[in-house]
Amino acid sequence: MVKRIAILGSTGSIGRRTIDVARRHPDRFEIVASAAGNHIDLVAEQVRLLRPRLVSVGTEEGAKQLRALLSEPVDIVWGDAGVRAVATFSEAHLVVSAIVGAAGLVPTAAAIEAGKTIALANKETLVAAGSVITELATRHRVEIIPIDSEHSAIHQSLAGHRRLDVKRLIITASGGPFRLKSMDELATVTIDEALHHPNWSMGQKITVDSATLMNKGLEVIEAHWLFGVAPAQIDVVVHPQSIIHSMVEYCDGCVVAQMGVPDMRGPIAYALSYPERVESGMEQLDLLKLKSLTFEPVDHERFPSLKLAYQALKRGGSLPAVLNAANEIAVHAFLNQHLRFVDIPRLVAQVMEEHDAHPLTSIEDVLEVDTWARARGRHLCGEYTS
Ligand code: NAD
Ligand code: MG
Repeated sequence: MVKRIAILGSTGSIGRRTIDVARRHPDRFEIVASAAGNHIDLVAEQVRLLRPRLVSVGTEEGAKQLRALLSEPVDIVWGDAGVRAVATFSEAHLVVSAIVGAAGLVPTAAAIEAGKTIALANKETLVAAGSVITELATRHRVEIIPIDSEHSAIHQSLAGHRRLDVKRLIITASGGPFRLKSMDELATVTIDEALHHPNWSMGQKITVDSATLMNKGLEVIEAHWLFGVAPAQIDVVVHPQSIIHSMVEYCDGCVVAQMGVPDMRGPIAYALSYPERVESGMEQLDLLKLKSLTFEPVDHERFPSLKLAYQALKRGGSLPAVLNAANEIAVHAFLNQHLRFVDIPRLVAQVMEEHDAHPLTSIEDVLEVDTWARARGRHLCGEYTS
């Protein structure tokens, strides 16, 4: 049977790679709907290539531009309602959730409510709303298959084992572009330097998150919700080569690791074809070319973001949503030269301190907290720059 796919975030780093993987297997996958922001030329190109039935873009203006570019018979929608229509498109079996940031939350929840299998790249959804989303997925009997490489590795390493035998998860981190920089050097790093990841080519937000190590913090929270493992049983180790994508240690001391070259097409192909496997386009791992695999601890002094994430996860309730929203504001400010790199975790910590954590019971609750934290973050940003 051909698996019909809807992609949220089709023009992004994950979206484009998803299309690459799907096109390798026209007998297995068909992309029937896609949503993106304002990169209209690329959306037009994707429509010509994939001939989806439904496509959504950021604005009404963008939708008009797209219509003018296309002769294909595709329904064009826009804005939040448009993304929602793609997320719930009746013909799709599986939704690839690859919008960046908390903007992915509402459409992902809508796709779950519509009973779609979720291939999840958008980690911010589980960070901000882990309890609500996992409860929703259980209620609708929807499977969430991770695309994030660490979680894909854990998913693969858990296969065939009992959850109660798991002792801990070991999440690997590349250490990002600033792994070897001193505190003093970090104070003056530039946007270009932060956007230059040593191993992975990704969207801007996650690339900055990788440089601060907030990405690892978000992934610890994501792992907690995906696999039901307590925060104290989730460890992070720096592994600069990004070959071991993560590991699971069992009660007998055995550790199962998943390896591969750093190419997101591997985890994407796994999520699209699970429980089967298909060719992904990924280069073969050549063990003889690898000189060594090395490991080191995280330096929490230079990279305080990871501890903030553990703190948010342990206190729970609304605090991870606050961490996530404040981080999005801080990263955006950094990318617009309104905040220094080292002020990103400071700003996040400050917004977290101002917040009284409370339980979250609905998506609306999460959105309210998200809005509050963004407003506080923006306000505090002004204080850093003035
Ligand atoms: P990206 O910035 O390259 O792409 C984001 C996509 O989302 C674009 O298509 C953009 O048009 C779309 N988008 C943004 N806001 C939107 C909105 N409001 N409505 C509709 N579309 C919108 O980001 P990316 O690197 O592909 O990352 C996507 C998600 O996957 C993030 O949550 C990231 O953390 C996660 N992720 C990415 C990678 C990676 O290798 N890039 C790896 C693991 C996880
Ligand atoms: Mg990752």
